[in-house]
This record gives sequence, C-alpha cells and structure tokens, in this order.
Amino acid sequence: MKKNLIGSEYRLGILGGGQLGRMFIQEAISYNIHVHIMDNNKKAPSAASANTFTKGDINNYDDVVAFGKNLDTLTVEIENINIEALYHLEKNGVNVFPQPRVLEIIKDKGLQKQFYKKNNIPTSDFELLPSNPDRSILAKKIPFVQKLRTGGYDGKGVEVIKLENDLKNMFQEASITEELVPFTKELSVIVARNENGETAVYPTVECEFNDVNLVEFLFSPAQITSEVENKAAAIAIDVINKLEMVGLLAVELFLCENGDILVNEVAPRPHNSGHHTIECNVTSQFEQHLRSILNMPLGATDMTQFGAMLNLLGSDGYHGQAIYEGLFDVISIKGVHIHLYGKEITKPNRKMGHITIARKSMDETITLAKDIKHLIRVITA
Ligand code: ADP
Repeated sequence: MKKNLIGSEYRLGILGGGQLGRMFIQEAISYNIHVHIMDNNKKAPSAASANTFTKGDINNYDDVVAFGKNLDTLTVEIENINIEALYHLEKNGVNVFPQPRVLEIIKDKGLQKQFYKKNNIPTSDFELLPSNPDRSILAKKIPFVQKLRTGGYDGKGVEVIKLENDLKNMFQEASITEELVPFTKELSVIVARNENGETAVYPTVECEFNDVNLVEFLFSPAQITSEVENKAAAIAIDVINKLEMVGLLAVELFLCENGDILVNEVAPRPHNSGHHTIECNVTSQFEQHLRSILNMPLGATDMTQFGAMLNLLGSDGYHGQAIYEGLFDVISIKGVHIHLYGKEITKPNRKMGHITIARKSMDETITLAKDIKHLIRVITA
C-alpha cells in the first residue's frame, strides 16, 4: 500500500540542486512533503532549503543509486543524468518520474526527433550526423541548424549554419542537422500528466530570446489566434500522451507564417517558460509537477492575471559577489514579483533570478516588462 503522501515520512528526492528544485521545495512545503536533494555543489541554489542535501554526481551510477534507493519517489530537474541508475531504481520499486524510458528519449535530440517522426508529431526535417562529420558534403544543405545530440542547454550546443564560412564552426561530436525553420514566434506549452493518465495543459506563452539564446521576455498568454492556441495545446497533450510520461513537460514550439506549428524540443520538468505560473495561474508549474509525480488530482491551469517574465542574467563585464542594482525601484512597482536563486557569484549571462510582472491588462504588462528591463542589473559591488 502506498504511504500517506501528506506526511513528512514520505521520501521525495530530486537529482540536481538548481533553482528549479528550490522553487519546487517552496511548493512541497505546503504539502508537508520533505524534499531530499543530490548535487555535486554544496552551495547549489536548493541546498539550503532541502530537508537533506547529499553531495554526489548525478552522472555517476553509484552516486545516483545510493541516493535513490531509500526514496519513495525520485524526480529530476535536469535531463543530463545517469539513466542506467534510474532504470535500476525503477526495477527495485522506486517511483522514478519522469520515467527513465522517457528521459532516455528526451536526453538525446536524435532519439527525440525520431520519436516525433515515428509518432506523427509535427517537427522540422532532420538527419543524424556521426562525430567528425564530412563538412564538404554538408555545404549543399546550407542553411541548416546543427545540434549536439546530448549535453546542450540554453542554446549551447546549437549552431546555425547560414554561410559556407559557418561550416568551420560545426561541432565534431555526434549531432543532428535540422532544416532552418523561418518561424514567426517561439511558443511554449506546459502540460502535466499523472499516473492515472489525467492531463492538464497551461495557456500557451510566447518567448523572445536574447542573442545568446536565453529567454529575454516571456509573455502570457501568447498573442495568437484561438485556432493556433487550440492547435498548440492539442500538440502538447498529444506529445505527453504518446510518451506516456508522468510528470510535467514543457513543449517548445515554432509558429510558422502559414499557421503551421512544429515541435522544436521538449523538457521533462518545470521550465523557464513556466515561471510566471507562480503568480499568474491558479496552480504553479512547480505544484503541478508535485501533483503529477505523486498521482494527485491535477490543479487548474487557468490564468488569473496577464503575465510577463524576465530572467535576471548576470551583466556583461561583472564576475564576483552579486548585487542587484535597482531592485528597490523595481519592487516598488505594483504587480512586480522578485525571485532570486541564492547564487552568490554572478558572471555574464548566468541565470541569477527572474522577475514576474502580473497585471490586469496585456498592454500594461508588456510595457512594464520592457521598462523594467532597463531598471535592474546584476552586477558586483
Ligand atoms: P536548447 O536545448 O539549447 O535550448 P534549442 O533546440 O531550443 O536548444 O535551440 C535554441 C534556439 O535556437 C531556439 O530557441 C531557436 O531560436 C533556435 N533554433 C533551434 N532550432 C531551430 C531550427 N530548426 N530552425 C530555426 N531556429 C532554430
């Protein structure tokens, strides 16, 4: 029989100690659930708020098994982990959500794309490339996008090849090539599924990325037609059902000029494009993740306010003890919510926190987001 979930004796673990785990713990506290964290960095953002913190390497088989074997449920906040260890734990009765089978597909962009094609999920055409690819035969494919099969994140591991001269920038590791999609917007849909197969989908959001591929602005809801909204939601539900995944899934989409929607990639966990749900939706993505992996009823996803989110990134030229210039000016504005991630040291483009703007009108929200961007900087003393 399952243990009573609502009780501190329930053992829930997370592999990875970053800000996603930290915000997840804030929600788990409301359910009396103790969260145990493993990360190699003792100063990781969620270390101080975890019930227990274990120092260990999430890519090391023995470390993951030792951490997971006494847990009731194990989840992740990053895909780049030791999957073999997760299979072992699953076989030995630990609930591992998302399932290792799903993580194995998502961790490898080649397997991910093959999964979409096999399951009739719309995505751009692609090819698998071996390591040390023959660049001369790739010239005829220009323009295209090259992506590392594993290990990439936040645009690291993505190379856009538009000119013959760009071929020299190509990765040598195993990769995929994708056709360059001339999208008009980048959309994201968060969807959750529990063990009963119940699903819940959030309103679609749109993201603007900066020149190093980090989310610069997120707006909720996306400014799209209801037809596109319905199509995006249907695709997200289709993906999570076809994966038969338990947990929270962020589905990143490209909207094309003709209204077509293509899946770019998915992330099987709370995601940067869902941070606004803390203030702007009935149930936050973190609470929804908790509900989905513990097979609770899923929460309502409706918007309660219009939202914008901007990441607080370390400013260029600053490396050291972080200070948040302009913080007081920004939090004195109605509807502005601050989330700092507990990282002591700033460096250029490091995600140090985020700000959510929650207001009653979309126009107001957009204007405020653009203004606030210039009011706050992460720098050093
Ligand atoms: P990561 O996993 O590192 O976030 P993504 O696959 O999301 O990498 O790619 C990062 C960004 O590169 C996307 O947000 C998008 O702007 C651009 N991009 C990725 N794939 C394509 C593509 N096939 N065509 C055009 N732009 C792309």
